[in-house]
Amino acid sequence: MMRDMARLVVLAVLAALLSPAAPAATSPASPRADLPLAGRLVVVDPGHQLGNARHRVEIGQLVDAGNGETKPCNTTGTATNGGFPEATFTWRVARRLAARLRALGAEVVLTRTTNSRDDWGPCVDVRGRLGNAGYRGWERPADLKVSVHGDGSLSGGRGFHVIVAAKPDGHAASTAFARAVRGALHDRGFRSATYTAGGRGLTHRSDLATLNLSEVPTAMVELGNMRSVADARVMTSTRGQQRYAAALATAVRRYLG
Ligand code: ZN
Repeated sequence: MMRDMARLVVLAVLAALLSPAAPAATSPASPRADLPLAGRLVVVDPGHQLGNARHRVEIGQLVDAGNGETKPCNTTGTATNGGFPEATFTWRVARRLAARLRALGAEVVLTRTTNSRDDWGPCVDVRGRLGNAGYRGWERPADLKVSVHGDGSLSGGRGFHVIVAAKPDGHAASTAFARAVRGALHDRGFRSATYTAGGRGLTHRSDLATLNLSEVPTAMVELGNMRSVADARVMTSTRGQQRYAAALATAVRRYLG
């Protein structure tokens, strides 16, 4: 009896070893150190929140703007003429961007984790500070932050523009990253805005808390003008959102890689 059992076990082991369906030997989980963004920490900020319009009091509270003044916690964001909200656009692009960066080995933190009519915020001061060393217990600063928006200009113009904080010092890294964003968007066929930033696709502003309060290289990008019918067509489409995310992932990789 014991001998039969032993023979059965031997046969089973042999069958498993010889079976063409047997899975290939697996190595222990690799740290994926070979990936281009391994060890990098990136904050992705999807602008606004779907429920901001239903929480006017909450988003109206004044917060530090990072330039010596205060400003409202957040705004509703814009929308296409057809009613597609900026919050949903930024959420979809940010999620796709995060997935691409994680696939390249990066650790990614989003400034909001829902796109819900029941939620509001976070406020722009939180968006600005998230990624700074020491804030919310982070032991090390993020390597990079990208804030994703869509513009709402009634000018009829179209195209993207990248925004960097107009700080007296220390924004060279942010400007370099902003140039990488602009270059990657051009490479994907997107054009610099015709209606702002002097047509250069890059500008500096001093009134944005998201940029002012960040101590890590940070750029905000208005990926298109949602009030432009031509831009809205791209921004509301899955393919367009994927193209934006791919361009931003390329920019991050070029800058950090
Ligand atoms: Zn916005």
